[in-house]
Parts: sequence; structure tokens; C-alpha cells
Amino acid sequence: MASCIQCGDDVSLHESVEVGEIVDCGTCGVELEVVGDDPVNLAEAPELEEDWGE
Ligand SMILES: [Zn+2]
Repeated sequence: MASCIQCGDDVSLHESVEVGEIVDCGTCGVELEVVGDDPVNLAEAPELEEDWGE
């Protein structure tokens, strides 16, 4: 569990969350990028198209 940087509410994450993943805050809807996973650390996501390639 991590805290939203915008509203401070808890953001639920999968157990296997990975650095670079983008998660949405369920409370305010902001997009957050996982920048660390031990412990989980969130930052405001850059505005990117959802076209990351595979
Ligand atoms: Zn939020």
C-alpha cells in the first residue's frame, strides 16, 4: 500500500508491482508512476500516450 502524492489517500497496488508501472489513484484519479518498490515509492506520472511498445 502506498499513499497518493496528490490526495494522500491509500493507493492499492498489486503484490508484484514493478518500477515504471503506472497506477491510478482510485480516489482522485491521478496517475502515479512507481519509482521504487522497496519500499514502494510513487511519483506523479509523466503525461505519456499509452503506447509503450512491447
Ligand atoms: Zn489521489
